[in-house]
Parts: sequence; C-alpha cells; structure tokens
Amino acid sequence: MLDSLGTLQRTHYCGDLRAADAEKEVVLMGWVHKRRDLGNLIFIDLRDRSGLAQIVFNKEQAPAAHARAEELRSEFVIAVTGRVVKRQKANPDLASGEVEIIASDLRILNSAKTPPFVVEDDLNANEETRLHYRYLDLRRTRPRQNLALRHRVILEIRKAMDEMGFYEIETPMLTRSTPEGARDYLVPSRVHPGQFYALPQSPQIFKQILMIGGMDRYFQIVKCFRDEDLRADRQPEFTQLDLEMSFPTQDAIFSVIENVMVRACAVAGITVKSPFPRMEYRDAIRRYGSDKPDLRFGMELHNVSEHFAPARETFHIDGSVHALTAPGAAVFSRKQLDEIAGKAKSLGARGVYTLKVTADGVTSPLEKNLGADALKKIAAAADAKPGDLVVAVTAKEQIPGTDAAALIAGQLRLLLADQLKIIPADRWEFSWITGFALFEWSPTEKSVVSAQHPFTGIFEEDIPKLEDDSDEVRMSMRSKGYDLVLNGVELGSGSIRIHQQEVQDRVFKALGLSEEQRRNRFGFFLDALSYGTPPHGGIALGLDRVTALLAGEKSIREVIAFPKTAKAQDLMAQAPSDVDSDQLDMLGIQLKKVEE
Ligand code: ASP
Repeated sequence: MLDSLGTLQRTHYCGDLRAADAEKEVVLMGWVHKRRDLGNLIFIDLRDRSGLAQIVFNKEQAPAAHARAEELRSEFVIAVTGRVVKRQKANPDLASGEVEIIASDLRILNSAKTPPFVVEDDLNANEETRLHYRYLDLRRTRPRQNLALRHRVILEIRKAMDEMGFYEIETPMLTRSTPEGARDYLVPSRVHPGQFYALPQSPQIFKQILMIGGMDRYFQIVKCFRDEDLRADRQPEFTQLDLEMSFPTQDAIFSVIENVMVRACAVAGITVKSPFPRMEYRDAIRRYGSDKPDLRFGMELHNVSEHFAPARETFHIDGSVHALTAPGAAVFSRKQLDEIAGKAKSLGARGVYTLKVTADGVTSPLEKNLGADALKKIAAAADAKPGDLVVAVTAKEQIPGTDAAALIAGQLRLLLADQLKIIPADRWEFSWITGFALFEWSPTEKSVVSAQHPFTGIFEEDIPKLEDDSDEVRMSMRSKGYDLVLNGVELGSGSIRIHQQEVQDRVFKALGLSEEQRRNRFGFFLDALSYGTPPHGGIALGLDRVTALLAGEKSIREVIAFPKTAKAQDLMAQAPSDVDSDQLDMLGIQLKKVEE
C-alpha cells in the first residue's frame, strides 16, 4: 500500500543537515539508499540530490512509523517527518554525519523493483548496464556532481557572454548540410517527398549570416551532429559553445575565450591565468610532435638527424630523426625497451633507437653504426643527463612534409611521461595554436581538402595561390585558423573568416566544386556574402570535453546525461530503432539492404 504525498512539503535536503539544525522538525524526501534492521531500531540512509542522511525508526517512540519502515527496500521512495538530533558519534564520511533524524512519521510514496546494480559510488557494474539503466546510474554521486558542475559551467559561460555583449541566438536544427568534414545526419521531409534536411554539423553558416545580418556578437550553447566513424571518445551529438563576432582582431577573439575559460575554471575551483601562451603549428610539431601539445611537462623533442647522417642508407632514413629524453628511464629493462619499440612501430615508426645515459657514458646498440662519439652528441642534443633514456625515431613520410617521425615521437612522449608518472594532474596549461595550413592532403579523396572548414580565412599574400595547379603550392597556403588546447586536448577551433564573396567562391572552386555544385550547395551563402559582409570571426569549444576535463573525467560520456555508446546507440531508449512501415510510406522511403 502506497501513501500519497498530499500536501506534505519537504523542508530540507538530506545532505544539507548540520549540527546547527539539531532539534528542528524536518520533512525529508528521497530514496532508500541502505536499510539496517536491528529489531527495535531500523536505520535508513535516505538519499536525495544533495547526499545522504541517517534516519532512525524507534519501535517504542514511533511504533506506526517503525512498522511501516519494516517494509522498506532499496530505492523505495519515501517521505520522512522527524526531529534532527546530534549523533553521539559523528560519521565523518557523510556531510550530514553530525546528525541523524528520529522519525515520527513515514510515508511510502513508491516501491521499486530490485535494481540490477546497487546504487553506490564504488560501482562495479559495467558501462553498458549503467547506460541501459541510466536513471539508476544518475542517482550516484559522481554523475550527479558532474551534471551539477556542467550546469554551473554553462551558467557562468552564459553570464560571461552576456556581460561581453553577446546575444544568444538559436539557429535551426533542421537545415542544410554544413561542412565540417563529417557525414550528415539526414532527416527526410514528409511535406517534400524525396527531400531531406541535414542536422547541423555546426551552426557555422548561420552564425556567419548572423554577422551579415548585423547581430555583431552571437553565441549559442548548441548541439551539433556529426556522423563519423566513432573514435573512442566521440559522440554523434555533442554540445559546443559557439560564437562569432564582427570586426574582430584575432586578439579580441582570444581574449573573449580566455575570459570565458578563466571563469569556467574558477567555477570548478581551478585558477588559471590569461593571456594563454601562443604557439605556431610548426613549432608545436617540432617541439612536442603534436598540434595539441601537453605543456604540463617538458620532454621536448629534438631533431637529431645530423648525427644519424652516416647511417641514413643503412637505416633507410628518408625524413628527419626525432629524439626525446625520458628522465630516469636508463634503468628500463630489455622488456620495457622492447615495449617502447613495439609501440613506436605500431604507430608507424620505421626505426626506433634507444640510448642509455649513465655516469660512465652513453650506451646504445647504435654504437656500431654511428660510433661512440655520435652517441654522446645525440645525448647532448637531447639534453639527457645520467640516468636518462633517449629514444630516437624515424618514419617513412607517407605524405611529404608531415613530419611523421616527430608525430610518432610526440605520441611516445605522452606514453613515456604517463608511464614515468611525470604529468602533474593539478596543472592547467592552455595554449593557442596558430599558423595552420589552409588545405591538407586527403589520402582517401586523393585531393586537397580544407584543413578546417571552407570558410576559414586565408593569409592575404597566399590568396593568389588558390588557382595554382600544384597541390604542393596549395598546401603551403596559410590559414587564419586557430585552436585552443588544454593539457594536450584540443578544446576547439575557430578562425577569422573569408568575408569577400569572390574569395569564398574561389575556395569552393579550389576544392573542386563545379559551378553547379557551388550554386546548389552554397548559393544562398554566396548570395548573402555579396550584400555587405563585415569582417568577422569566431570559434567553437567542445563543452562536453571542457566539462570532462574540469570534472577530472577521462570520458565525455561521464558528463553527458544520456550519452551514446561508441556504436552510436542509446542503450536506454534503444535508439536507433526500426520504424513502422506506415511512417516510411508517408515519407516515400523504401528500405534497401545495406552491407554492414
Ligand atoms: N564551426 C567550427 C567547428 O565546429 C568552429 C568555428 O570555426 O567557429 O569546429
């Protein structure tokens, strides 16, 4: 038999009760977290969004409530009326541990089936089960705290953006393709049979049109949809802080974002200083072997090609040789060195060479090819000290000029730093990366493609190269794009845009779009650009990633209320799903077998 809530009103949250509340009459509502039945006394840990409180049902003092409490099971929903008393011995593990509530009345508002896993913080249910029963999972502290943090971060961002004069403006979800390099999610139109909307990969075109429309400063906390082959920590729909401003310098955009990030970090109790350092893409690759360098630790790369000169043929070296020093790793065993080599090979290295630096000198299998003197020079070039290990790698350049060896060394740098535990968890190192190429080579499309998206501005002196026949020349064009990086994670990218219609059209042409394709796909935008477009630029940050980092979570799924799996499924709602044939008929759609 269930009781009704009636007019009963909650007076407090469980987790908020403190010694100062002693002797108060309170009404608490929530879920039965744990029940201990000692006969005359029944203890309940009552849980709500704020945490836990201990309730005591005493058979002598409140026989009716005690009898009712005998029926309680995990996850039953109850309302308890009672008096707060100070505990004789406080429970330091509980925020409300100084007090307990002596119940005078109990209402059982709902029962619950036995949950498939116990709702507790040290959960050993696997992620699939957690996602299937996400509503139970959400009752745990960690997801609840993560969503609370997300709320506070987003609220702070909205305040900051408002204070800086940005309007939050919504852009359509049912729209036309917006190229961000992924596949579109398509939505069939019933009214226009055979035609489709695309869900936005980003509001890119719309936000630029808002600038053309004179809105001056736009932002939006917005969902974006990208049908990509899902890599480990991606979601088919994700949330961006998207912004655009008119008449901006790059510095103006950077300082808006720096302000936002400093405030968002402060919400999570993290102090960061602005301005954030800036680094050219080429330098990031050269020094860290990555376009999203983790600046929390050193271990920079060193180009040691000259010292390998005598062995270039023997070792089949066709690019540069990059080395890094792993501090204190001279003690690594044969097995550990083999693991490093194995890892580097799996990342595409052609040669992996290790040098151990000790007080007695430098030892390495390289000695027979390069001589003892070269070993010392390599160690010196890599800033290695006694006790350190130097790792040098070479790689075949699949795409010339991409610094394949540096990129592999960059990944080894992260792996070794992790293994050696030298990455400080409490440092927050932001950086801006600039100086990207406008185009890159796509091995799948066998042509140049936009490195970011086709609206990215171009260095003025490079614009004439748009019509150059040579891919190499076009790949040397520099863009006005930039990325924001935090602790080795790319948080987002943006650019000063192309604002001249004629240049935009030439970019589409350079990307191989015919006149007809340009007109069909981008005609409305090219048209808009021709009616007085202000210079403009902006950026978008991945808010799931920002929140995950601030929450100390490895996966963005932990900061999304209803995330999808790596196979793009919602295990709880069981989406995607089949639909009724009537629905398909109405849309004029007939299904075909698709090869998996
Ligand atoms: N639309 C871009 C993105 O989603 C960001 C931008 O250029 O502002 O990455």
